[in-house]
Amino acid sequence: MKELEKAFGENVVLKNISETVKKGEVICVIGPSGSGKSTFLRCLNVLEKPTSGQVLFEGKELTHLNEEELNLLRERMGMVFQGFNLFPNMSVLDNLKLAPLHVRKVTEEAATTTAQRLLAQVGLEDKAKQYPESLSGGQKQRVAIARALAMDPEVMLFDEPTSALDPEMVGEVLKVMRDLADSGMTMVVVTHEMGFAKEVADQIWFMDGGYIQEKGKPQEFFAAPKTERARLFLSKIL
Ligand code: ADP
Ligand code: MG
Repeated sequence: MKELEKAFGENVVLKNISETVKKGEVICVIGPSGSGKSTFLRCLNVLEKPTSGQVLFEGKELTHLNEEELNLLRERMGMVFQGFNLFPNMSVLDNLKLAPLHVRKVTEEAATTTAQRLLAQVGLEDKAKQYPESLSGGQKQRVAIARALAMDPEVMLFDEPTSALDPEMVGEVLKVMRDLADSGMTMVVVTHEMGFAKEVADQIWFMDGGYIQEKGKPQEFFAAPKTERARLFLSKIL
């Protein structure tokens, strides 16, 4: 992103952000509530239209694309939210097959094969026939991750994927994300899970006041944050 700015009316939420995510990198975005993390993530796939500046993906400028072009592009960026947003009236398997069948127009057989492979990857191969309501929160979130992966994305965006989960279910979702990172997936993860950030991130981006105030390797950032704001934030949560 280049000189990215986003305002809601008078409220300037993102101010002049120029950053690059490289292929294969895992970026963990951390920062106080209301600091603009979700807005930032939503600007990356233009779910939120930046007020000014550019978002480039594989060299292509996104902010001027029309909705149709954007939808094609969003297929390349999987997104997982705090809530699970599964389709309640469909089995787990059909949740995973829906977009590949209707958007990518793959065959029924190919969609089923991919869906089963991804369910196995997130440890839920035995849940294919079940409906979302019969799953735990952690299982639903793993299905949501598998569903995003079914479109074979280049990058995965996560917005506090474990924040709505009961504590005992956080680990199973983080494990799936960690495996994904190990497999080389490019990931931008907004999270409050500092253990995960410390162990899995290549870079920590600390947001506050509309800026990325500090960037660094996790070992350095957590051991010795350079800015007063980051020190204060860490002192409150660790
Ligand atoms: P975070 O994810 O770090 O908690 P957000 O990106 O959700 O922060 O919000 C940052 C600021 O932007 C907040 O002041 C919030 O009220 C405002 N904001 C976010 N989305 C909207 C919106 N759709 N309309 C108006 N204000 C918004
Ligand atoms: Mg948020």
